[in-house]
Amino acid sequence: MAKYKEMYKQSIENPEKFWKPFADKVFWYKKPEKILDASKAPFYRWFVGGVTNTCYNAVDRWVEAGKKDQPAYIWVSSETNQDRIITYGQLLDEVVKFASVLKNSGVKKGDRVIIYLPMVPEACIAALACARIGAIHSIVFAGFSTESLAIRIDDAKPKVLVCADAGKRAGKPVPLKSIVDEALQRAQFKVPVVILLDRGIVKPEMVAGRDVFWKDIVAKKGGDKVECEKMASTDPSYILYTSGTTGKPKGALRDTGGHLVALYTSMETIYGCKPGEIYWAASDVGWVVGHSYIIYAPLFYGITSVIYEGTPIYPDPGIWFRIIEKYKINRMFTSPTAFRVLKKFDEKFITERNLSTLKVIFLAGEPLDAPTWEWATRVTKNIPIIDHYWQTESGWAILTNPWGVEQIKIKPGSPTFPAWGWNLKVIDQAGKDMPDGEKGFLVGVPPTPPGCLMTIYGDDERYDIAYFKQFPGFVYATGDYAIKDKDGYYFVLGRADEVIKVAGHRLGTREIEEAILGHPAVAEVCTIGIEDKEKGQIPVAMVVLKEGKTPSDALKTEINNTVRNNVGAIASVHDIKFVMKLPKTRSGKIIRRVVKALFEGKPLGDLSTIEDGTSVDEIREAIKGMGENK
Ligand code: AMP
Repeated sequence: MAKYKEMYKQSIENPEKFWKPFADKVFWYKKPEKILDASKAPFYRWFVGGVTNTCYNAVDRWVEAGKKDQPAYIWVSSETNQDRIITYGQLLDEVVKFASVLKNSGVKKGDRVIIYLPMVPEACIAALACARIGAIHSIVFAGFSTESLAIRIDDAKPKVLVCADAGKRAGKPVPLKSIVDEALQRAQFKVPVVILLDRGIVKPEMVAGRDVFWKDIVAKKGGDKVECEKMASTDPSYILYTSGTTGKPKGALRDTGGHLVALYTSMETIYGCKPGEIYWAASDVGWVVGHSYIIYAPLFYGITSVIYEGTPIYPDPGIWFRIIEKYKINRMFTSPTAFRVLKKFDEKFITERNLSTLKVIFLAGEPLDAPTWEWATRVTKNIPIIDHYWQTESGWAILTNPWGVEQIKIKPGSPTFPAWGWNLKVIDQAGKDMPDGEKGFLVGVPPTPPGCLMTIYGDDERYDIAYFKQFPGFVYATGDYAIKDKDGYYFVLGRADEVIKVAGHRLGTREIEEAILGHPAVAEVCTIGIEDKEKGQIPVAMVVLKEGKTPSDALKTEINNTVRNNVGAIASVHDIKFVMKLPKTRSGKIIRRVVKALFEGKPLGDLSTIEDGTSVDEIREAIKGMGENK
């Protein structure tokens, strides 16, 4: 691993020298004067003085280089039985039209635009149109429900919201416009313009003076030849809200130049892409993987990206592998959950397909267990299955096998080594290094590399506290537990905070708790994630009802519906237990560790560490209560 080691060492010891050659590979109107400005730590700024445009790098650059007839996106919908190839030339045309629509709707550089769309090409077109005019997009996962959308609207205060009548999941319509209408009513901020993509799935109600159909507004306002806005490298490009330890999501704010250079570098050095290839990230544009590896990175690299609407098992579990065969996919990126779902079905769905074009499959989003890794390797006839680890905040890999530089021996269950610029350590709560092989908190010694979040939108203090004030010393807290083995391989063990990962989707237990507390019968609640074979983790809740309220299955359903309506179906609570009391410390803090052990039927562990004897009684009472109400 000499090559990796040498490059990695340089990325830590001399980041300027490491990143400059990669920065030289993207297009700048004006080249950066300084690679890294660390003077206002922890607000690291990359490629300072550089002027560029993300949309130019993704689209115009390739049209000007003679690639106008090459596919930029291949859209496949197994939900609506459609597919569509969009060449770079066609994409430029559509992006310019929508940029013109946004401009003529009053959107200026720095203004926000919320995109609440299912997996349709228009989601990417709208994002690129924002990038073209320097507007900050905030894509909200179209599985999120009213309250989640309303919170994001109030935080981002968008000039325009782009949505669709509906999406579809496993053939069933998922209405979106009605959620938008309700969210807009709940939000304090009044969004002046709503652009609706009418897919003909459900009949949308239109609000006069505010709502307009995509087709109509493009015809009316899409005619200007809008050029790319000249953006400073340090100008923000997008906000992506993610769950944290409080109920309010964190708006991770991405820069322009760091994002561009980091993603370009990852395509070459991590994924090992080559010109002319087809890259398929089977994720959703509402998550960070979709931002980085559906919308942007393949286009920054001038290759073809697949936009897929559907699940891995609809209409049957062979669908993904037929797509790989039909479109000759070269590199794929998805989540371990997808393989755990596929594992339940006949492996012939996979083994009978010709996957000869597929060179590698990358997985991320949650721990990849060794049995799933082994199964996936076997059924794909030894296609390398590469685990890598990252998060919304980082925007690209933190731990990875640098496949494009050197193919390092895989240890199942490990996302291998630190990515460029990530000076990682495993420490204890006091900030001391853990010995090899022992569990601790995974942290990064600053600076954070290019592409990592600039701040939390509108809240520099929260950024500083959430990421840099969690441990003594000055380190970036990933929020995860990890172990480093004696060979330097890392194993990520899951979140050390109140965040859970359900089928790779990141959720805050606080968000779910706040939704449950919204139910009139609920007095107190504690939500945790427990282990699940297929989804990795699933949320469950312990609920204390108000005086006079009686536990029942009907009440459980009602409470769960509150979660589904306020957060979204992905947060659906798997099990609710009614208890008399929650296990707490004297200071009133719920002891989640004990709640988790109760739910998982595991030993409660050492209760003597709890300071106050009465809280132990409370725990016992809770166990008794649980038995009574089960
Ligand atoms: P998100 O911000 O939604 O991408 O979620 C990030 C979190 O997902 C991380 O902090 C980890 O808890 C988890 N995660 C992502 N990739 C991996 C991986 N390869 N192995 C273990 N956990 C992962």
